[in-house]
Amino acid sequence: MQIAILAVQGGSIEHRRKLEKLGVSCTEIRKKEDLKGSFDGLILPGGESTAQARLIRRLDLYDSLKKQIQDGIPVLATCAGLILLAEEVGGGQTCFGTLPVRVKRNAYGRQLSSFHTTAEMKGIGKVPMTFIRAPYIEEVRDGCEILASVDGKIAAVRYGVQYGMSFHPELDEDDRIHEAFLNSIRTRI
Ligand code: GLN
Repeated sequence: MQIAILAVQGGSIEHRRKLEKLGVSCTEIRKKEDLKGSFDGLILPGGESTAQARLIRRLDLYDSLKKQIQDGIPVLATCAGLILLAEEVGGGQTCFGTLPVRVKRNAYGRQLSSFHTTAEMKGIGKVPMTFIRAPYIEEVRDGCEILASVDGKIAAVRYGVQYGMSFHPELDEDDRIHEAFLNSIRTRI
């Protein structure tokens, strides 16, 4: 199995470490040539979604990534990555627009802009969740399943093989979210 991690800006390293820990190899996508291989899954990490979206265009990665997502590559999108996938971004630009949700950027306000909690993730159980200037999902649309909510706000969804979360599973010791993502890929290969 080979996983591509978008690495133009933000937190790709923590995802790479997780995958290495779980014995899975990955390619960090920094330029167009990095997309030449064939991948079984794609990770869109956290960071700054506006900067990431700009770099994706500038580095000419957009068409290829969007096509792979539309063609059904499994995607794990965390925080800024979730914003890149969302069909509608409250007060911001959409990027890939393949995940039928409306998200709100920096949605937790100043006091709560970064926090840690534990909440139930559908199919997994209670998992630690680290939020850093996180978006939340204001609305889910056709066929999009809610996987987790925190304080009444939707924090994780699945739409087919696209997984979007407003927190950072790569920052906690718990590996079950990455494991579940990799298992969902294994059942397809
Ligand atoms: N606030 C960032 C954004 O709007 C997301 C933060 C994160 O990825 N930790 O893009």
